[in-house]
Amino acid sequence: MSKNLLYCEDFKQKLLDSIRQIQDYPKKGILFRDITTLLNDKELFSLLIDNLALRYKEYHLDFIAGIESRGFIFGSALAFALGVGFVPIRKKGKLPAKVLQKSYALEYGEDVIEIHQDAFRDKPNAKVLLIDDLIATGGTAQASVELITEAGGNCVESCFLIHLTALDGLKKMQTKVFSVLEV
Ligand code: AMP
Repeated sequence: MSKNLLYCEDFKQKLLDSIRQIQDYPKKGILFRDITTLLNDKELFSLLIDNLALRYKEYHLDFIAGIESRGFIFGSALAFALGVGFVPIRKKGKLPAKVLQKSYALEYGEDVIEIHQDAFRDKPNAKVLLIDDLIATGGTAQASVELITEAGGNCVESCFLIHLTALDGLKKMQTKVFSVLEV
């Protein structure tokens, strides 16, 4: 079997180089990691999803849950590649049916996220992978794990493209965590 590129330093460096950094966005003092420049690169984007699929096909997942909004991009592409369902975790007021809700703290500000109560209804104790582009303080991701659990899912791992190590977000996480890039 060919080596998974997610563990190759060259590939990780290419991913890192493709992510644009915007100083003082959306607030002064924040260095924003803009993944749109990675998505623009058809080869890198597809290699990233192919190699995430290689890692996660062994997990025999039932669903991927993505956090609004950049988690939707990676999450739905990965769900498609693995042939599993996708569940959106959204900001307050965006989901149309009955929801479960959690408030959480961001690196910049505070917010509320929601999941449909019946997101995993077809599959009791569904195996779920949580995915987002980036973990900073970990508030959003841990709140998402709690929502998945309350909706009856079993969050087997949380996956991030970027882990901002200085913010120590992993301390908050009550699941296994896999991050492609540590910065
Ligand atoms: P946190 O809850 O602090 O871990 O923040 C994670 C969420 O905020 C993710 O959905 C990220 O997309 C977004 N986020 C936080 N900090 C940054 C950053 N420096 N650059 C890009 N996105 C960020």
